[in-house]
Amino acid sequence: MPGKNVHRMSSHELLEVECPSCRAKQDIVIWKSLNVTRDPELKEQFFTGKINYFTCGSCDFEGFITAPLVYDDMEKKICANYVPIEYLEDEEYLKQSFTPDAEIRLELPDDTARIAEMDYFRHAHMVFSMAELIRYVLFRDRLGQVFSEN
Ligand SMILES: [Zn+2]
Repeated sequence: MPGKNVHRMSSHELLEVECPSCRAKQDIVIWKSLNVTRDPELKEQFFTGKINYFTCGSCDFEGFITAPLVYDDMEKKICANYVPIEYLEDEEYLKQSFTPDAEIRLELPDDTARIAEMDYFRHAHMVFSMAELIRYVLFRDRLGQVFSEN
């Protein structure tokens, strides 16, 4: 069923990942969404590049996992989505996650105030690398700081 509402929760799963370099397998926690208003400690991990980062226990390979990630700051109304370029091949993922106009697909409530509140989430900023996701959030946080100083 399309229109799954994944809004407002941090979520993760434990997955077995194969090292792209040496093929050794290890379990890693993969975050699908970060709600930094509810889970502020995740934000620190996110900024220091610890979220969805794979460090191989058998060789010296390390790097970000190729998995979509939603960053949601309800308080500041900042939402950004990392879409790995490989996922453009995944029709199911695209259809379930987005509308044809690249909005986030959501089950909207009947309540107009709630719909307005979710507007920033529906119009999430899309990025295609984890590094860019981190930079974009830094940029938005910095703008928030600069404009609240006066
Ligand atoms: Zn390895």
